[in-house]
Amino acid sequence: MSDCIFCKIVSGEIPANKLYEDDEMLAFFDLHPQAPTHFLVIPKKHIKGPGSIEEPDTGLIGRMIKKGGDLAREHGIGSGFRLVINNGADAGQSVFHIHLHVLGGRAMTWPPG
Ligand code: AMP
Repeated sequence: MSDCIFCKIVSGEIPANKLYEDDEMLAFFDLHPQAPTHFLVIPKKHIKGPGSIEEPDTGLIGRMIKKGGDLAREHGIGSGFRLVINNGADAGQSVFHIHLHVLGGRAMTWPPG
């Protein structure tokens, strides 16, 4: 998607502070962290959001969640972290390329805002 900021990160057109990359996903630190550790895991394939996941994507989404947990452990937040995927503007989604937020390093409250 030519106007998608995360597709531009995937293609290298805009830079990101990357933690991990393989042939199907990428993880990078969030530009505006909401916790001491806050990074995003995204698929290289453009999927608009969790409401647009199709059956063939389910394995990829599962691997992204596992990778988020693995990276959380590697970055010292394995004992307490939160995974968030927003869907739609009403839920706070601002970039319409699915991404898993991984947040940790502080106590989290519930319910989320
Ligand atoms: P959401 O509001 O769930 O769509 O989350 C989008 C996230 O992407 C926000 O937390 C932004 O801070 C983050 N973000 C936007 N642009 C960039 C970028 N160029 N590099 C890293 N994070 C970004």
